[in-house]
Amino acid sequence: MSRYALFGQSVAKSPSPQIHTAFARQTGIPMEYVGIDVAPEALDAALDAFVAGGGRGANVTVPHKEAAFARCAQLSERARLAGAVNTLRLDEGQWYGDNTDGAGLVRDLTGRHGLDLRGRRTLLLGAGGAARGVAPALLDAGVRELVIVNRSPERADALADALGQPGRAHTRYWEDLADIGDFELVINATSAGRHGSAPLSLPFALCSDMTAAVDLNYGDVAIPFLAWARTARLRTIVDGLGMLVEQAAESFERWHGVRPQTDAVYAELRKGAPEPVAA
Ligand code: NDP
Repeated sequence: MSRYALFGQSVAKSPSPQIHTAFARQTGIPMEYVGIDVAPEALDAALDAFVAGGGRGANVTVPHKEAAFARCAQLSERARLAGAVNTLRLDEGQWYGDNTDGAGLVRDLTGRHGLDLRGRRTLLLGAGGAARGVAPALLDAGVRELVIVNRSPERADALADALGQPGRAHTRYWEDLADIGDFELVINATSAGRHGSAPLSLPFALCSDMTAAVDLNYGDVAIPFLAWARTARLRTIVDGLGMLVEQAAESFERWHGVRPQTDAVYAELRKGAPEPVAA
Protein backbone atom coordinates (compact mmCIF):
# COMPACT_ATOMS: atom_id res chain seq x y z
CA MET A 1 0.00 0.00 0.00
CA SER A 2 1.45 3.41 -0.97
CA ARG A 3 1.73 6.09 1.70
CA TYR A 4 0.58 9.71 1.52
CA ALA A 5 0.31 12.37 4.21
CA LEU A 6 -0.58 15.94 5.10
CA PHE A 7 2.30 17.86 6.69
CA GLY A 8 1.30 20.88 8.75
CA GLN A 9 0.86 22.20 12.27
CA SER A 10 -2.27 21.34 14.25
CA VAL A 11 -3.54 19.03 11.48
CA ALA A 12 -5.27 16.63 13.88
CA LYS A 13 -8.71 18.02 12.97
CA SER A 14 -8.06 18.36 9.22
CA PRO A 15 -10.67 16.61 7.03
CA SER A 16 -7.97 15.77 4.43
CA PRO A 17 -7.41 12.14 5.59
CA GLN A 18 -11.19 11.56 5.41
CA ILE A 19 -11.32 13.09 1.90
CA HIS A 20 -8.41 11.10 0.47
CA THR A 21 -9.52 7.87 2.11
CA ALA A 22 -12.92 8.33 0.43
CA PHE A 23 -11.25 9.03 -2.95
CA ALA A 24 -9.09 5.90 -2.57
CA ARG A 25 -12.12 3.74 -1.79
CA GLN A 26 -14.10 5.21 -4.69
CA THR A 27 -11.30 4.67 -7.25
CA GLY A 28 -10.09 1.34 -5.83
CA ILE A 29 -6.56 2.65 -5.32
CA PRO A 30 -4.91 1.17 -2.21
CA MET A 31 -3.31 4.02 -0.27
CA GLU A 32 -2.85 5.24 3.27
CA TYR A 33 -3.19 8.98 4.06
CA VAL A 34 -2.43 10.43 7.49
CA GLY A 35 -1.90 13.85 9.05
CA ILE A 36 1.62 14.54 10.36
CA ASP A 37 2.18 17.44 12.77
CA VAL A 38 5.61 18.91 12.36
CA ALA A 39 7.36 22.11 13.48
CA PRO A 40 9.02 24.21 10.74
CA GLU A 41 12.56 23.31 11.81
CA ALA A 42 11.71 19.59 11.66
CA LEU A 43 10.05 19.51 8.20
CA ASP A 44 13.14 18.39 6.24
CA ALA A 45 13.86 15.48 8.56
CA ALA A 46 10.18 14.51 8.66
CA LEU A 47 9.97 14.40 4.85
CA ASP A 48 13.15 12.27 4.67
CA ALA A 49 11.77 9.85 7.25
CA PHE A 50 8.47 9.71 5.34
CA VAL A 51 10.25 8.75 2.10
CA ALA A 52 12.37 6.16 3.91
CA GLY A 53 9.14 4.65 5.22
CA GLY A 54 7.57 4.35 1.75
CA GLY A 55 5.99 7.82 1.34
CA ARG A 56 5.11 8.58 -2.30
CA GLY A 57 3.44 11.98 -2.06
CA ALA A 58 2.11 14.58 0.34
CA ASN A 59 0.02 17.65 0.87
CA VAL A 60 1.58 20.55 2.71
CA THR A 61 -0.28 23.20 4.66
CA VAL A 62 0.36 26.17 6.95
CA PRO A 63 3.16 27.03 7.71
CA HIS A 64 5.21 24.78 5.38
CA LYS A 65 4.16 25.75 1.84
CA GLU A 66 7.14 28.00 1.11
CA ALA A 67 9.61 25.55 2.69
CA ALA A 68 8.15 22.73 0.58
CA PHE A 69 8.56 24.91 -2.50
CA ALA A 70 12.27 25.26 -1.68
CA ARG A 71 12.64 21.45 -1.37
CA CYS A 72 11.41 20.70 -4.89
CA ALA A 73 13.70 19.69 -7.74
CA GLN A 74 10.85 20.33 -10.21
CA LEU A 75 7.82 22.61 -10.06
CA SER A 76 4.62 23.15 -12.01
CA GLU A 77 4.23 26.57 -13.60
CA ARG A 78 1.43 27.50 -11.17
CA ALA A 79 3.56 26.50 -8.15
CA ARG A 80 6.39 28.62 -9.50
CA LEU A 81 4.04 31.61 -9.87
CA ALA A 82 2.66 31.09 -6.36
CA GLY A 83 6.07 30.57 -4.74
CA ALA A 84 4.28 27.98 -2.61
CA VAL A 85 3.60 24.26 -2.90
CA ASN A 86 0.66 22.33 -1.43
CA THR A 87 1.22 19.05 -3.30
CA LEU A 88 4.40 16.97 -3.41
CA ARG A 89 4.99 13.89 -5.55
CA LEU A 90 8.10 11.71 -5.41
CA ASP A 91 9.48 11.32 -8.94
CA GLU A 92 12.61 9.15 -9.20
CA GLY A 93 13.66 10.04 -5.68
CA GLN A 94 13.09 13.81 -6.02
CA TRP A 95 10.17 16.01 -5.11
CA TYR A 96 7.96 17.47 -7.81
CA GLY A 97 5.84 20.34 -6.43
CA ASP A 98 2.46 21.66 -7.53
CA ASN A 99 -0.07 24.12 -6.15
CA THR A 100 -3.67 22.97 -6.52
CA ASP A 101 -5.33 25.67 -4.37
CA GLY A 102 -6.22 27.99 -7.26
CA ALA A 103 -7.65 25.27 -9.48
CA GLY A 104 -9.59 23.95 -6.48
CA LEU A 105 -11.14 27.34 -5.71
CA VAL A 106 -12.09 28.09 -9.31
CA ARG A 107 -13.59 24.63 -9.83
CA ASP A 108 -15.67 24.99 -6.66
CA LEU A 109 -16.91 28.48 -7.54
CA THR A 110 -17.67 27.83 -11.21
CA GLY A 111 -18.67 24.16 -11.09
CA ARG A 112 -20.39 23.66 -7.74
CA HIS A 113 -21.71 27.19 -7.16
CA GLY A 114 -22.29 28.18 -10.79
CA LEU A 115 -20.47 31.52 -10.51
CA ASP A 116 -19.22 33.13 -13.70
CA LEU A 117 -15.99 34.83 -12.63
CA ARG A 118 -15.40 36.59 -15.93
CA GLY A 119 -15.42 40.39 -15.80
CA ARG A 120 -15.71 40.61 -12.02
CA ARG A 121 -13.98 43.38 -10.09
CA THR A 122 -12.38 41.26 -7.37
CA LEU A 123 -10.96 42.03 -3.93
CA LEU A 124 -8.43 39.55 -2.55
CA LEU A 125 -7.83 39.98 1.19
CA GLY A 126 -4.49 38.42 2.19
CA ALA A 127 -1.16 37.74 0.51
CA GLY A 128 0.00 34.55 2.27
CA GLY A 129 0.43 31.10 0.75
CA ALA A 130 -3.26 30.62 -0.04
CA ALA A 131 -3.66 34.04 -1.68
CA ARG A 132 -0.54 33.38 -3.76
CA GLY A 133 -2.03 30.08 -4.87
CA VAL A 134 -5.44 31.42 -5.90
CA ALA A 135 -4.47 34.77 -7.47
CA PRO A 136 -3.08 33.40 -10.78
CA ALA A 137 -6.08 31.09 -11.15
CA LEU A 138 -8.51 34.00 -10.63
CA LEU A 139 -6.77 35.96 -13.38
CA ASP A 140 -6.85 32.90 -15.66
CA ALA A 141 -10.57 32.53 -14.91
CA GLY A 142 -11.12 36.01 -16.34
CA VAL A 143 -11.69 38.38 -13.42
CA ARG A 144 -11.52 41.94 -14.75
CA GLU A 145 -9.47 43.51 -11.96
CA LEU A 146 -7.76 41.98 -8.94
CA VAL A 147 -7.18 44.33 -6.03
CA ILE A 148 -4.91 42.78 -3.40
CA VAL A 149 -5.04 44.14 0.15
CA ASN A 150 -2.92 42.70 2.93
CA ARG A 151 -2.20 43.67 6.54
CA SER A 152 1.51 43.79 5.66
CA PRO A 153 1.49 45.84 2.43
CA GLU A 154 4.92 44.67 1.24
CA ARG A 155 3.60 41.09 0.85
CA ALA A 156 0.69 42.38 -1.26
CA ASP A 157 3.17 44.30 -3.44
CA ALA A 158 5.33 41.19 -3.86
CA LEU A 159 2.31 39.16 -4.97
CA ALA A 160 1.19 41.82 -7.46
CA ASP A 161 4.75 41.99 -8.84
CA ALA A 162 4.87 38.20 -9.22
CA LEU A 163 1.57 38.24 -11.14
CA GLY A 164 3.08 40.68 -13.61
CA GLN A 165 -0.16 42.24 -14.87
CA PRO A 166 -0.04 45.77 -13.39
CA GLY A 167 -3.08 46.94 -15.35
CA ARG A 168 -5.25 44.15 -13.87
CA ALA A 169 -3.66 43.10 -10.56
CA HIS A 170 -2.58 45.81 -8.17
CA THR A 171 -2.55 46.64 -4.47
CA ARG A 172 -4.19 49.04 -2.05
CA TYR A 173 -3.65 49.66 1.67
CA TRP A 174 -5.91 48.14 4.32
CA GLU A 175 -6.78 51.68 5.46
CA ASP A 176 -8.21 52.35 1.96
CA LEU A 177 -10.87 49.63 2.20
CA ALA A 178 -13.66 52.10 3.02
CA ASP A 179 -12.99 54.19 -0.11
CA ILE A 180 -12.07 51.77 -2.89
CA GLY A 181 -15.59 51.20 -4.15
CA ASP A 182 -17.56 47.99 -4.35
CA PHE A 183 -16.59 44.61 -5.76
CA GLU A 184 -18.42 41.81 -7.54
CA LEU A 185 -16.27 39.26 -5.73
CA VAL A 186 -14.72 39.58 -2.25
CA ILE A 187 -12.39 36.76 -1.18
CA ASN A 188 -11.07 36.32 2.34
CA ALA A 189 -7.71 34.56 2.04
CA THR A 190 -6.46 35.66 5.45
CA SER A 191 -6.14 33.50 8.54
CA ALA A 192 -7.61 36.24 10.77
CA GLY A 193 -9.59 34.67 13.58
CA ARG A 194 -7.33 31.62 13.84
CA HIS A 195 -5.64 30.81 17.14
CA GLY A 196 -7.76 33.41 18.96
CA SER A 197 -6.69 36.40 16.84
CA ALA A 198 -9.30 39.08 16.15
CA PRO A 199 -11.55 38.53 13.12
CA LEU A 200 -11.56 40.97 10.21
CA SER A 201 -13.56 44.15 10.51
CA LEU A 202 -14.72 45.10 7.00
CA PRO A 203 -16.81 48.01 5.69
CA PHE A 204 -20.13 47.26 3.97
CA ALA A 205 -19.11 49.79 1.31
CA LEU A 206 -17.25 46.89 -0.36
CA CYS A 207 -20.58 45.29 -1.28
CA SER A 208 -23.27 45.87 -3.88
CA ASP A 209 -26.29 43.76 -4.85
CA MET A 210 -23.98 41.83 -7.18
CA THR A 211 -21.25 40.92 -4.68
CA ALA A 212 -20.35 37.28 -4.04
CA ALA A 213 -18.42 36.70 -0.79
CA VAL A 214 -16.00 33.79 -0.54
CA ASP A 215 -14.03 32.68 2.50
CA LEU A 216 -11.20 30.20 1.97
CA ASN A 217 -11.68 29.24 5.61
CA TYR A 218 -14.37 26.85 6.81
CA GLY A 219 -15.81 25.88 10.18
CA ASP A 220 -15.50 28.22 13.16
CA VAL A 221 -12.79 30.42 11.59
CA ALA A 222 -15.14 31.34 8.74
CA ILE A 223 -18.06 32.39 10.96
CA PRO A 224 -17.25 36.15 11.31
CA PHE A 225 -16.67 36.77 7.57
CA LEU A 226 -19.77 34.78 6.59
CA ALA A 227 -21.78 36.70 9.19
CA TRP A 228 -20.52 39.99 7.72
CA ALA A 229 -21.65 38.83 4.26
CA ARG A 230 -25.05 37.79 5.60
CA THR A 231 -25.52 41.14 7.34
CA ALA A 232 -24.74 42.81 4.00
CA ARG A 233 -27.59 40.66 2.56
CA LEU A 234 -25.37 39.16 -0.12
CA ARG A 235 -27.03 36.47 -2.20
CA THR A 236 -23.93 34.35 -2.78
CA ILE A 237 -21.85 33.36 0.22
CA VAL A 238 -19.37 30.50 -0.03
CA ASP A 239 -16.97 28.99 2.51
CA GLY A 240 -13.77 27.03 1.84
CA LEU A 241 -15.13 23.51 2.27
CA GLY A 242 -15.75 22.94 -1.44
CA MET A 243 -12.33 24.33 -2.33
CA LEU A 244 -10.79 21.94 0.19
CA VAL A 245 -12.40 18.96 -1.55
CA GLU A 246 -11.55 20.21 -5.06
CA GLN A 247 -7.89 20.97 -4.32
CA ALA A 248 -7.65 17.50 -2.79
CA ALA A 249 -9.11 15.94 -5.96
CA GLU A 250 -6.56 17.82 -8.03
CA SER A 251 -3.73 16.52 -5.78
CA PHE A 252 -5.12 12.97 -5.99
CA GLU A 253 -5.04 13.22 -9.77
CA ARG A 254 -1.40 14.39 -9.69
CA TRP A 255 -0.48 11.30 -7.65
CA HIS A 256 -2.59 8.61 -9.30
CA GLY A 257 -3.56 9.89 -12.74
CA VAL A 258 -7.25 9.45 -11.89
CA ARG A 259 -9.69 12.25 -11.10
CA PRO A 260 -12.09 11.26 -8.29
CA GLN A 261 -15.75 12.35 -8.10
CA THR A 262 -16.15 15.02 -5.42
CA ASP A 263 -19.88 15.57 -4.89
CA ALA A 264 -20.54 12.73 -2.45
CA VAL A 265 -17.42 13.55 -0.41
CA TYR A 266 -18.43 17.23 -0.27
CA ALA A 267 -21.99 16.32 0.79
CA GLU A 268 -20.66 14.12 3.60
CA LEU A 269 -18.39 16.89 4.93
CA ARG A 270 -21.18 19.48 4.60
CA LYS A 271 -23.34 17.40 6.97
CA GLY A 272 -20.92 18.34 9.75
CA ALA A 273 -20.62 22.02 8.78
CA PRO A 274 -23.39 24.61 8.51
CA GLU A 275 -24.43 25.64 4.98
CA PRO A 276 -22.95 29.13 4.38
CA VAL A 277 -25.03 30.13 1.37
CA ALA A 278 -27.79 32.58 2.25
CA ALA A 279 -30.38 32.81 -0.46
P1 NDP B 1 -0.48 32.24 5.71
O1 NDP B 1 -0.05 32.09 7.12
O2 NDP B 1 0.50 31.96 4.61
O3 NDP B 1 -1.03 33.74 5.47
C1 NDP B 1 -1.94 34.31 6.38
C2 NDP B 1 -2.53 35.57 5.77
O4 NDP B 1 -3.53 36.08 6.66
C3 NDP B 1 -1.52 36.70 5.56
O5 NDP B 1 -1.91 37.44 4.44
C4 NDP B 1 -1.67 37.50 6.86
O6 NDP B 1 -1.27 38.85 6.73
C5 NDP B 1 -3.17 37.43 7.03
N1 NDP B 1 -3.61 37.66 8.40
C6 NDP B 1 -3.40 36.87 9.49
N2 NDP B 1 -4.00 37.39 10.57
C7 NDP B 1 -4.59 38.56 10.17
C8 NDP B 1 -5.37 39.54 10.83
N3 NDP B 1 -5.65 39.45 12.14
N4 NDP B 1 -5.84 40.59 10.11
C9 NDP B 1 -5.58 40.69 8.78
N5 NDP B 1 -4.85 39.77 8.09
C10 NDP B 1 -4.36 38.72 8.79
O7 NDP B 1 -1.77 31.31 5.55
P2 NDP B 1 -2.41 30.77 4.19
O8 NDP B 1 -2.38 31.89 3.21
O9 NDP B 1 -1.80 29.50 3.78
O10 NDP B 1 -3.92 30.45 4.62
C11 NDP B 1 -4.87 31.49 4.85
C12 NDP B 1 -6.17 30.83 5.30
O11 NDP B 1 -6.75 30.13 4.19
C13 NDP B 1 -5.94 29.83 6.41
O12 NDP B 1 -6.83 30.06 7.49
C14 NDP B 1 -6.16 28.47 5.74
O13 NDP B 1 -6.76 27.52 6.58
C15 NDP B 1 -7.11 28.82 4.59
N6 NDP B 1 -6.92 27.90 3.46
C16 NDP B 1 -7.98 27.16 3.01
C17 NDP B 1 -7.82 26.29 1.96
C18 NDP B 1 -8.98 25.47 1.48
O14 NDP B 1 -8.77 24.51 0.73
N7 NDP B 1 -10.20 25.83 1.83
C19 NDP B 1 -6.53 26.11 1.28
C20 NDP B 1 -5.49 26.97 1.80
C21 NDP B 1 -5.70 27.81 2.87
P3 NDP B 1 0.28 39.26 6.99
O15 NDP B 1 0.98 38.99 5.68
O16 NDP B 1 0.20 40.69 7.33
O17 NDP B 1 0.78 38.39 8.11
